[in-house]
Amino acid sequence: MLANFHTHTNFSDGKDSPEDNVIYAIEQGFESLGFTDHSYMDFDLSYCVKDTKGYMAEINRLKEKYKSEIEIYLGIEEDIFSKNRENGFDYIIGSVHYVKKDGEYYPIDYDIENTKNAIEVFGGPLQLAENYFESLCEYIETKKLDIVGHFDLITKFDEQNAPIFLGNGEYIEIAKKYLKRAMKSQPIFEINTGAISRKLRTTPYPCEELLYELCKNDAKIVLSSDSHQKEHLDFWFKEAKDMLYEIGFRNSYIIKNNRFESRKIR
Ligand SMILES: [Zn+2]
Ligand SMILES: [Zn+2]
Repeated sequence: MLANFHTHTNFSDGKDSPEDNVIYAIEQGFESLGFTDHSYMDFDLSYCVKDTKGYMAEINRLKEKYKSEIEIYLGIEEDIFSKNRENGFDYIIGSVHYVKKDGEYYPIDYDIENTKNAIEVFGGPLQLAENYFESLCEYIETKKLDIVGHFDLITKFDEQNAPIFLGNGEYIEIAKKYLKRAMKSQPIFEINTGAISRKLRTTPYPCEELLYELCKNDAKIVLSSDSHQKEHLDFWFKEAKDMLYEIGFRNSYIIKNNRFESRKIR
């Protein structure tokens, strides 16, 4: 079955309107589609939803209009530093896109320069990783989240230059330590192919070592494309399913009839 639950539109930093995404998804034979534009961030308006009410109204309108053809869900990709959470979302993806020090926010997924800057500010890649994962785990433990967004996003630019994190055994141990902690809250972890469609990466988040850890512990997973244009709604899904099956996963989660349910990968 085809479904995606991490979809950006032109309400935030995506290219296409929600309706264009819906029409395309129906044409491709999708059963479900979940929208998750970026939550409002008062300190960085460059990529978030500015009109949250308008976004919610539009997705709810599409839900009704296309209900005989596709299941549509209203989600949001909430950032840890978003101040308010509106009521009325079907589900929440919780993500960390910044690290914070002395009142300053440092984006970790903007570009390689910003990531290097954050590394310098925090005194090294391992210290940055500790800070990033600590914030992510606290967030998972204190806020009600359905899906953890791109668990190891700090590795986004690792294939652009010499790898900073991946391939460093000490980093992998830190990431595993926090993954084990995050799993205790039993969220659903997304297997996110977004950086592959943007030609930044050849593998999804989380990295392979962490995928084995998730599999070993029977963690719940959801496959998501983090798409920013409609043609990418199921980008690299076939390859990802093969990869997950190979690792040992047999099921992933989807939203169907308003609830998360497990489906066979094959
Ligand atoms: Zn994100
Ligand atoms: Zn996203």
